[in-house]
Amino acid sequence: MFDALAQQIPYHTLIDTAAVRLDVKRLDLIHPQISGNKFYKLKYNLIEAQKRGCARILTFGGAFSNHIAATAYAAHRFNFQSIGIIRGEELADRPLNPTLSTAQALGMQLEFISRAQYRQKDQPEFIQALMQHYPNTYIVPEGGTNALAIQGSKEILSNFDREQYDLICCAVGTGGTLSGLIESSAESQQLLGFSALKGTFLSEQIRGLTQKTNWKITDDYCFGGYAKSSPRLLNFMASFEERYQIPLEPIYTAKMLYGLFDLIEQQAFAQGIRILALHTGGLQGRLSAK
Ligand SMILES: *Cc1c(COP(=O)(O)O)cnc(C)c1O
Repeated sequence: MFDALAQQIPYHTLIDTAAVRLDVKRLDLIHPQISGNKFYKLKYNLIEAQKRGCARILTFGGAFSNHIAATAYAAHRFNFQSIGIIRGEELADRPLNPTLSTAQALGMQLEFISRAQYRQKDQPEFIQALMQHYPNTYIVPEGGTNALAIQGSKEILSNFDREQYDLICCAVGTGGTLSGLIESSAESQQLLGFSALKGTFLSEQIRGLTQKTNWKITDDYCFGGYAKSSPRLLNFMASFEERYQIPLEPIYTAKMLYGLFDLIEQQAFAQGIRILALHTGGLQGRLSAK
C-alpha cells in the first residue's frame, strides 16, 4: 500500500571537488505529510495492523512531532482510525498548533496527558490500560521506533547508494532509522549519525540492536539538546536554504548538515570521500515553530 508513494527519490549534489563529493537524498520529497524516514518507519507497522485486522492506530508524541503528523496522515490515507496521545495536558486548553490541528483535521483523536503520565507510556500496565480502553488498536511507540520500523528503514538505501558512497549520514532521534541503515549498509561503508539529543545512551541502545560496527553517533552538533537551537544554527540553516534551495528544519536536518559541513571544513574525512546525507524530512514542524 505504501509503494505507490515512494517512487523516484531525487538527489542533489552539494559539493563536488577533488576532496569531497557530498550528495543529499531527498526523502523529504516522498510526500508532504508522510515525509522522510517516518514513511519507512510506518510502512510495516501499518501492514501488520492491517494483517491483525486492527481498526485503529494509536501512538504518542509531543506537540510538534513529525511522527504524529505522519501517523495521522498515513492512518487517514489507509483507512484506519487514529489516536494521538500528546505530552502536556495544559495543551488541551490552548488553540492547536498546525501539527496538531492538521492531525485532528485528518481524523486523529487527540488525548492530552500530563508529563508524569507520559513518562509511563512504555510501562506494561499503562499499555494494558490503553488496550482495554481502545480495543482492536495497534500501538506504535513514540517516534515510531520498533522492530518493524527498523525493517522499513532498511529500504532507505538502494543498491546505487551501497555502491556509490563511502559514508552515509543521517540525523538521529531514537536511533530507529540509523539502525535500519546500519543493517542494510555495505560492509565497506561507514555510517555517521548526528544526534539531535545530548548524550551517548543512543550508541548503547544501538549496540544492542546490531552486530555491525561500521557506524558512529556524535552529539557534538546537538546544540545543547533536543529542540535547542542557537543563532549560529539558524544562520547556517538560512544560508544553506538560500544557497541550495533545499528547505531544512532546526531540530534534525539543519544540525546534521551543520555538523557535516563543519567536519568537511576541518578536513576530518579521507581525500576523495563520497558522502551521502539523508534529508529525513520533518518540514511540517516549521509551520508550528513559527
Ligand atoms: C524522526 C526524525 C528523525 C529521527 O529518526 P529516528 O529514527 O527517531 O532516529 C530524523 N529526522 C527527522 C526529520 C525526523 O522527523
